[in-house]
Amino acid sequence: MSQLQSLRGMVDLLPETLQRWQAVEAMARQHFQRSGFGEIRTPLLETTDLFCRGIGEGTDVVGKEMYSFQDRGDRSCTLRPEGTASVVRAALQHGLLSQGPQKLWYAGPMFRYERPQAGRQRQFHQIGVEWLGADSARSDVEVIALAWDLLASLGVGGLELELNSLGTSEDRQAYRNALVAWLEQRSEELDPDSQARLSTNPLRILDSKNKDTQALLEHAPTLTDTLCDASRERFAEVQRGLNALGIPFRLNPRLVRGLDYYSHTAFEITSDQLGAQATVCGGGRYDGLIGQLGGAPTAAIGWALGMERLLLVLEAAAQAAPDGPAAKLVAQVTPDAYVVNRGDQASAAALILARGLRARGLVVELDGSGAAFGKQFKRADRSGARWALVLGDDEVDGRQVRLKPLQQAGEPQSCDLDDLQALSVVLGSSSGA
Ligand code: ATP
Ligand code: MG
Repeated sequence: MSQLQSLRGMVDLLPETLQRWQAVEAMARQHFQRSGFGEIRTPLLETTDLFCRGIGEGTDVVGKEMYSFQDRGDRSCTLRPEGTASVVRAALQHGLLSQGPQKLWYAGPMFRYERPQAGRQRQFHQIGVEWLGADSARSDVEVIALAWDLLASLGVGGLELELNSLGTSEDRQAYRNALVAWLEQRSEELDPDSQARLSTNPLRILDSKNKDTQALLEHAPTLTDTLCDASRERFAEVQRGLNALGIPFRLNPRLVRGLDYYSHTAFEITSDQLGAQATVCGGGRYDGLIGQLGGAPTAAIGWALGMERLLLVLEAAAQAAPDGPAAKLVAQVTPDAYVVNRGDQASAAALILARGLRARGLVVELDGSGAAFGKQFKRADRSGARWALVLGDDEVDGRQVRLKPLQQAGEPQSCDLDDLQALSVVLGSSSGA
């Protein structure tokens, strides 16, 4: 029988990766807590209609990337391709917005039928924030700082913040007309995808990854040229706010974001470590979405970062700076002690010993192999534990446990097997934490 495999683009997360993953999520959770954002979890499965209305039929996500199917009750369902539409739906469904602005964050898997490659999967994971009911330029600055500071606290370097303003929907309409007029005269120079987008979603052409199209666009009219005075002043205020916080940014008049509901501020944070899939975090203001999903018109802003890409950047940062915060974050947790044991009495006592020390908060790995001491010591070394605790039947008879230092210079010693308190002090005090 042939070996069963996961579906293409669907990736297993194994313990080594998950340990890093958890460390990142713990940092993020703490960061959001400090900033007054509360966690929200929404279902992975929603009605297809939510994403059609919330993201837009003309987008790649809705047009070709959704995992949609009819369920047994013949409803059209879709595995969520992103978090924002679901969070807004939940906020509306539970009347959260009647209690005032909502600061929310989420983390979890998203599904898009894309071509898998480095940094691009079909099931991937995002951490994101949504601030519903925030309309000031200051809230844009705070939300961008939230992303920037999280990445900085994780020790990720080489990041660039790219910033643009999409203006109001009138500004965008005016720009769309100007851009379409300009591109129609040059449509034979566009790649086929971009030609198709001319009638469906022309702003997305700016996002094209085709080199010739990109070169052509160098000369195209920019959004910045069509912003009305109020939009222009708002954008300037956001930039002043970022400057005041010392957050560097680069204006990118071609940055549009893939989803239809964005207005005013749009931004991406990219890394020089990621090759073609360079964007770690993307976000912006979506003042039109809540109204579009049936709520009272409400301004909002948010962002999402890709966990898989973030972990790639973290690993690169850890290699570049072995003593830096990224390296600490990706370092594997090593046991405080590894219990080497052999013999009937010893293995029974070893289990009791390990449980007792774990109950006191120590990380203890218990060798269950019954192999020769030499073999067990090799494994103890490999585990990265600082101490081997050695139990043979002789030790148990004498109610003693031998401590052998593994990683650091230190003296071998013996401890009373029945005085776990004393033993845990010896093991814990050398933890270097
Ligand atoms: P891209 O242009 O790379 O396709 P996007 O504009 O579709 O990105 P968003 O919808 O803004 O991405 O999602 C936010 C972040 O989620 C991205 O910046 C990226 O880090 C991550 N992301 C998006 N799609 C994938 C995917 N298929 N695999 C892994 N990560 C992804
Ligand atoms: Mg995409």
